[in-house]
Amino acid sequence: TDHGRVINFGAGPSALPLSVLEEAQTGLVNFAGTGMGIAEISHRSKEFQAFLDGFERDIRTQLDVPPTHRILFTQGGGTGQFSAVVLNLLARYKLLRPQASAEDTVLDYVVTGSWSKKAAEEARRLGGSTVRTVVDARVYSKDGKAFDNIPPHAEFAFSADPALIYYCENETVDGVEFAHDAQSPAAFPFHLLPQNTLVPLIADYSSSFMCRPIPRLADHAVIYAGAQKNIGPAGLTVLIVREDCIVDVDAAAKLGAAPVPLILSYKTLADSGSLYNTPSVLAIYMAGLVVKRMKENGGLPYYEEVNRRKANKLYAAVHEGEQKGVFRRKVQQGSESWMNAVFEVLGEGAEKKFLDGAEKEGMKGLKGHRSVGGVRVSLYNAVTEQEVDKLIAYMARFLAESAS
Ligand code: PLP
Repeated sequence: TDHGRVINFGAGPSALPLSVLEEAQTGLVNFAGTGMGIAEISHRSKEFQAFLDGFERDIRTQLDVPPTHRILFTQGGGTGQFSAVVLNLLARYKLLRPQASAEDTVLDYVVTGSWSKKAAEEARRLGGSTVRTVVDARVYSKDGKAFDNIPPHAEFAFSADPALIYYCENETVDGVEFAHDAQSPAAFPFHLLPQNTLVPLIADYSSSFMCRPIPRLADHAVIYAGAQKNIGPAGLTVLIVREDCIVDVDAAAKLGAAPVPLILSYKTLADSGSLYNTPSVLAIYMAGLVVKRMKENGGLPYYEEVNRRKANKLYAAVHEGEQKGVFRRKVQQGSESWMNAVFEVLGEGAEKKFLDGAEKEGMKGLKGHRSVGGVRVSLYNAVTEQEVDKLIAYMARFLAESAS
């Protein structure tokens, strides 16, 4: 049975695989034969520790995370990491360059959408550094205002010795994503990074984590993702941190860096095996079941193939509607996200008609983010190809009706 469930195209929290939800029901009542539910059991129990170890292993193997990088679990979401990356990496920079003044301590932000813009704003709030916008994608947009593209590589002018370089791999609100194919003009310009390979490259993967392999993962210092889009419920944040970015923040504070709250310090998390305080036990459990299921399904090569097909056919349907003057894509060709496809339905009242009609057929969560409007189709791992086919069939019918 489908339990009366609809097709959930929401941007997050978003759909989870039904098979996992069913499996989780068992653990909710009696986890690993302990006679206690997962939300009731101690995070220090050997059963939970074994589960946590397996979860970490499943992420490490599927993403091919090298031994130079730790996998850490925390709370506070992507927003928590907007602050944590700044504080930890300013502490690191202070230890490396104790003489540098705040003006000489540069943070490089690549701004390609609403979330990277927010992250840069938080870096400015926290102070203690000079925050630079390396490139602002709005400059290269069709109207000078929208985040609708990955800018040309020639425009990425990184600083020589920044304390961090920051980008958001997939912009959930705007539907813009760095391309996966290294040859694409919309790929992240790894070749332009400062020659000093220890300059920390930070990536927000909140809405594209484990939808496909991560290009040049080993060249990143920190990769983070809130779980609530691709791999689980809200309340869990996954971090992949290179060892040299796990620093003694108190030693840095003695040299004049800002004090770092214990719970935001990567060293606290690393030294305690992500169990310094009570973790989000239930969210870890469900995300653990999801990544185990992913492994059984063939891992990231499988999801990459399916996600590629889902995105390609959805964009083809939008393109067809564009030819007929009914839809209009919002993102420039080549910069479109695999995970969040955004478009407009043209004409007075047409968008509402489109959304209402979809809802009547059991397809929900299609309304664009309140800041930008339009339609947004989120195509996370749990959305099946058949579900996408159903939406495409609806779009074709909508086109036919609009034409008549
Ligand atoms: N970064 C990206 C790319 C996001 O999509 C989101 C949330 O949608 C965030 C950061 C903020 O994450 P959170 O709500 O977990 O704090």
